[in-house]
Amino acid sequence: MYGHQSTGLLPDDYPQFFSRGQGARLWDVDGNELLDFMCAYGPNLFGYGDAQIDRAYIDQLAIGDTLTGPTGLIVELAEQFTAMVRHADWAIFCKNGTDATSMALVTARAHTKKKTVILAKGAYHGAAPWCTPRPTGTTAEDKAHQVFCAYNDIASLDAAAAAAGDDLAAIFAAPMKHDAFVDQALPDPAYARRAREICDRTGALLVVDDVRGGLRLARDCSWSLVGVEPDLSTWGKCIANGHPLSALLGSDKARAAAASIYVTGSYWFQAAPMAAALVTLKRVRETDYLERIQGVGQRLRDGLAERATAAGFGLRQTGPVTMPLFLFDEDPDLRKGFFWSSEMLKRRVYVHPWHNMFMCAAMTLADIDQALEAAEASFAALKTQAGSLGPVDKLAFLAA
Ligand code: PMP
Repeated sequence: MYGHQSTGLLPDDYPQFFSRGQGARLWDVDGNELLDFMCAYGPNLFGYGDAQIDRAYIDQLAIGDTLTGPTGLIVELAEQFTAMVRHADWAIFCKNGTDATSMALVTARAHTKKKTVILAKGAYHGAAPWCTPRPTGTTAEDKAHQVFCAYNDIASLDAAAAAAGDDLAAIFAAPMKHDAFVDQALPDPAYARRAREICDRTGALLVVDDVRGGLRLARDCSWSLVGVEPDLSTWGKCIANGHPLSALLGSDKARAAAASIYVTGSYWFQAAPMAAALVTLKRVRETDYLERIQGVGQRLRDGLAERATAAGFGLRQTGPVTMPLFLFDEDPDLRKGFFWSSEMLKRRVYVHPWHNMFMCAAMTLADIDQALEAAEASFAALKTQAGSLGPVDKLAFLAA
């Protein structure tokens, strides 16, 4: 298996293959029912197999899906999406998050006629040669014209801008620091404002990569929460609740550049995912889903903190409650995290030991109570074993 969906870096007992999903639950091919805190790495926002969203998909499939060109749904969806996302005046739809981030890069270079892009070290923007975290098979040229800063570090952002000189095309920003293996961090508003100022001063475009965080932080671009509007934002994962669709949204400033680049794909005009997205976005606008996932997320965070403390463990829960990450104190090679996650899995709760998780609107307070009960028993099991755990061989690279 490839990518982060491979269980290669997860505890040995984690299932690689699944047979079914419903609401907040997942069944592996051995028939184990799991309460799923990964939500397909994000796409599941309203529950697997949501009847209304999937009905819209199926109905559109019967009418027409991949055709010689788009249906009118693409216009309707662009109108709905740009009405929701304040900075956006136009949209280009595509399939994967990587399509959207790659288009953002090309649009920024087309707009500025410059090459250099500032990225935060450790941030993930997809799996194309310019951004893949594993350089095997790529060339140094694929990653040319990139300057790195540290997320939320204004001095390093300034230094990166200075290094870019008069060649800055774009600053890419994740909506928060959500890198794997390390604590998450919400954006420092001053850092976000400085990124905006640098772009305004140099003419570069500010890109917020909302592929992962989009719609779990805000009903608008995630940086609306810190009062900063980007020029481009990238979306994917949950915008059609799991149906294949992603998007690049942009402001008028970048419209001509976006219209000038050559981008497409055989399946980019599929109408069925767009029908699903229209229902998903309507649900986002018209329901309290965000407050509800914040509510279940907060209950999980509070309950875990209480139980970890009672068992004598320091558990760092970072990021927003809708996208939590758990790391144990004094656990540099994650041996405690691996053991605890395995114990959770034994109790039919799927948590991730080093990647942020995702809450979905199908999760109930009873689900959280189930997770907390499993957590309490898992902390107790960890307590009996913590002194004798060996290193996790597959994560040896973390110590290097
Ligand atoms: N950007 C971010 C922030 C992501 O989390 C991801 C996916 N994990 C991507 C881009 C790439 O999306 P995709 O896997 O759909 O290409």
